[in-house]
Amino acid sequence: MSVRVGFGYDVHRLQKGRRLILGGLHIPSEVGLLGHSDADVLLHAITDAVLGALALGDIGALYPDTDAAWKDADSGELLKGALAKVHELGWQVGNIDATVVLERPKLRPHIDAMRERIAGLLGVSSDAVSVKATTSEQMGFVGTREGAAAYAVCTVVRN
Ligand code: MG
Repeated sequence: MSVRVGFGYDVHRLQKGRRLILGGLHIPSEVGLLGHSDADVLLHAITDAVLGALALGDIGALYPDTDAAWKDADSGELLKGALAKVHELGWQVGNIDATVVLERPKLRPHIDAMRERIAGLLGVSSDAVSVKATTSEQMGFVGTREGAAAYAVCTVVRN
């Protein structure tokens, strides 16, 4: 097979006093995502999608939250580590499509900057990176602003 697809999903709790980091960017917000790393739920879903495309396990196996090395880690570095594994095996990222599910703040003004940032991390052009945002219509843990979720798919292409 010369093209494969991977899927990723992640959730993080929202908490006052945390910075909101999404897609590698700081997004102005009253609340931020809680986690061992910077809790960038979007980059985590994308990292799992990148790993999943080649059945390389998941972000939790690669970067255990029991390891102090990843405390407050920049999730961009975690994604680059996953990408390095893909490159080592002779593949490259084709494209990414991702959705962030978050009630507030509205992400539309930040979408293109996130796409640029993610494309830069992956070494692909920004038109190969799609980021979409939706709310949960005030239902469930996203709707009550308890947390945020992200979903991503990634294709990889054999060199
Ligand atoms: Mg995570």
